[in-house]
Amino acid sequence: MKHLTEYSDPASIHALAAEIARISKRPARIMEVCGGQTHAILRHALDTLLPPHVQLLHGPGCPVCVTPSAYLDHAIAIARRPDVILCTFGDLLRVPSDSSGDLYAAKARGADVRMITSPLQALDFARANPDKQIVHLAIGFETTAPANAMLAYLAKDKGLANVSLLVSQFLVPPILRAICADPETAPDAFLAAGHVCAIVGSDPYVSLARELNRPIAVTGFEPADILLGVLDVLRLFEQGRAEMINAYPRVVHPSGNPEALRIIDAVFQIADREWRGLGVVPLSGLSLRPEYAAHDAAQRFPLAPKLVYKQVNDAPECPAAKVLLGKLQPPDCPHFGARCTPDHPLGAPMVSPEGPCAAFYLHRR
Ligand code: SF4
Repeated sequence: MKHLTEYSDPASIHALAAEIARISKRPARIMEVCGGQTHAILRHALDTLLPPHVQLLHGPGCPVCVTPSAYLDHAIAIARRPDVILCTFGDLLRVPSDSSGDLYAAKARGADVRMITSPLQALDFARANPDKQIVHLAIGFETTAPANAMLAYLAKDKGLANVSLLVSQFLVPPILRAICADPETAPDAFLAAGHVCAIVGSDPYVSLARELNRPIAVTGFEPADILLGVLDVLRLFEQGRAEMINAYPRVVHPSGNPEALRIIDAVFQIADREWRGLGVVPLSGLSLRPEYAAHDAAQRFPLAPKLVYKQVNDAPECPAAKVLLGKLQPPDCPHFGARCTPDHPLGAPMVSPEGPCAAFYLHRR
C-alpha cells in the first residue's frame, strides 16, 4: 500500500497542519477544481485542520455538474430512438435535464441505456449489434479525453460506422481564467487536479500561474497530498509569488503523458463549450475534428429545432452556479438536506458522487 498509507498517516497529516498554521499569516481563499479532491477534503475533514482564516472553496471540478442540461435533453432524445444503444458512465444517469427528466427515467421507459466502465465497451456493443447505432456520452475534463478519443480513433480505424460520440469535453485552464476574471469569485490560489495534470503535465500551469497572478499547486488526492498542496500555495501566497509547484511528482511529470496527448490531439480540437449554470466559455472544451465527423453523434442525430442549447440549469430555486463558483458553500443553500438530497436532488451538484453538495451531504451533514 505504498503511496497510500504513507499519505494517510495521521502524524504526517498533523505535522503538515501545524506547519500550515505556523506559516499562514494572511486570510487566504484556496480553490480546488476537482470533485475527487472536494470529496477527499470533506471525507477526511481536512478543512477543519486549517486556521480559520484559510478557506477552501470548491470550484467547478465535477464533470457531471458542469455538463449542460440541454446536452442531457439531446442525449435522452437520442436514447429514445429504437435503433440506438446509449452508453454512459453511471453518474450521469440521474442528472436532471432541461425538460426531459433524466436518463434513468428514459431507461425505465424502455430506452436502451447501458452503464459502462470504459468507453471502449462501445466497440463490443457495435460488433455485437451491427443493426444498432451505438452512442457514447463523452463528457469530462482532460482526464477522460484520452479514452474518449481512443474510442473515436478505434471506431474509425476498424470501420465501425455505427459508433458515435456525443461530446461535452471540458478544459480546466479556461475556466480558471473565467473565475479569476470576476473579482467576486477569484480565489487567492488554486489546487490543480493531479489526474488532469497527469495527462497534460505540470508545465502548462507554470505560465498559467503567472498569467492568473496566483500560486497554483498540482495536488494529489490523499489527505497528506492535499495538505501539502495547501502548504505549498500558502507559502507562495505569503511570499507574493505567482508560481506553480508540483506537489504530486510521484504521478505528474512536467510534460504529462505524451501518448494521451497525442491521441487527444489527433481526434479533438479546441472549441467553445457551455458549462452548466456558468454559460459559454470561449475555447474551454474539445470537439471532434472534421475527420471524425462521421462519428459525431451531434451531427448524426441533430437537435430537434426546439432543443437548442441554452443556459438552462437546474431547478430555478437551485443556486448550483453559485456553489460551483465558490460563492456559496452547499450547507448555506436553503434547500440543502431538506428539499434537496441525493435521493431527491434539485441540482446536479447533489447528484454526482463528485458533486460538492453531495460531498457535504455525505460527509458533513
Ligand atoms: S443543495 Fe441542492 S438546491 Fe442547493 S445548490 Fe446544491 S444541488 Fe442546488
